[in-house]
Amino acid sequence: MTTALRPQPGIMDIALYQGGASKIDGQHDPLKLSSNENPFGCSPEAIQAVAAAAETMHRYPTTDHAPLRDAIADVHGLPAEQIICGVGSDELLTLLAMAYAGPGDEVLYTEHGFSMYRIFALSAGAAPVVAPETDRCVDVDALIAAITPATRLIYIANPANPTGTALGTDQLARLADAVPAHCLLVLDGAYAEFFEGYDGGAGLVAARDNVVMTRTFSKLYGLGGLRVGWAFAPRHVIDTLNRVRGPFNLSTVALAGAEAAMRDRAFVDKCLRENAEQRVRLTGGLRQLGIACDDSRANFVLARFSDEAEALAADAHLKKSGILVRLVKGYGFPQALRITVGGAEDMTRVLDALAAFRGAT
Ligand SMILES: *Cc1c(COP(=O)(O)O)cnc(C)c1O
Repeated sequence: MTTALRPQPGIMDIALYQGGASKIDGQHDPLKLSSNENPFGCSPEAIQAVAAAAETMHRYPTTDHAPLRDAIADVHGLPAEQIICGVGSDELLTLLAMAYAGPGDEVLYTEHGFSMYRIFALSAGAAPVVAPETDRCVDVDALIAAITPATRLIYIANPANPTGTALGTDQLARLADAVPAHCLLVLDGAYAEFFEGYDGGAGLVAARDNVVMTRTFSKLYGLGGLRVGWAFAPRHVIDTLNRVRGPFNLSTVALAGAEAAMRDRAFVDKCLRENAEQRVRLTGGLRQLGIACDDSRANFVLARFSDEAEALAADAHLKKSGILVRLVKGYGFPQALRITVGGAEDMTRVLDALAAFRGAT
């Protein structure tokens, strides 16, 4: 059937997002280390809150998300009126592009940046522009050099996915100082909590008119399936985003689960401690096997093999051992595998499987 309908320019240039694999043929219950999920699940209090909220599902949810925003504000010491909640941080990241960029505008991100940034730019009808990185790190000077009068939005994940590298606050401040007033700097803090001592860029947001920080419940909080994220932004940006988001974007159940998860600091502290410990173990274990990797500030490690063939062979070997990791060729790393930091037993399994792989080749 032919149709005269045509989507807006740019839409058909979008390649479908590839999520981390979740199945291995013929294997029951694989160890999934492909999507940076929390190996400990989520807070038991979040599960209870979700179950309780299910009783009131016949009611529409709040439109202002006040109880959840208050919980976030309390924990992070931020003003609740500068917080907005979305269906994952993805929703807020895409609404930012829709609200601030369009045809003729440029959206800037970096060489190995999160693959959704290109999709956000094209969805808004804007042109994606890519700045080079240096040694798998965001290069502030290269980014600044790539800013033009048409740049409306800059996306940076800090720590970055899939490299796990991060800029310090001084570097971010240097970048923010160089971003022109007509351009919004978006600091995607999906992994901010895992970077010890980092505030996700909140201090920069508070001090400037054109910086936004996004955060998520999908990674540390173990609620990827519930779909909740939030942003801290200047008042004028909050006001803009509230005009374009759906009034009932977050369900009663999602709001209740996220609020309980935010308030359960004991669970969060435990997960952070475990991640820090197992991240060191995974990094050290990989290096001992001669597999290169950078120090990670997130909950995953990018393992670099000698070439694409070896990375694919390692991936196949891990699959045979019932372990799923992430191929990252699409991010410009055909020779690498991104491995989520799991619990102690998970990391033993991965390192043993890779040791066997290295022994066999
Ligand atoms: C996982 C991830 C997100 C979070 O997505 P949600 O929509 O909040 O689940 C955002 N940015 C990066 C870089 C990520 O890896």
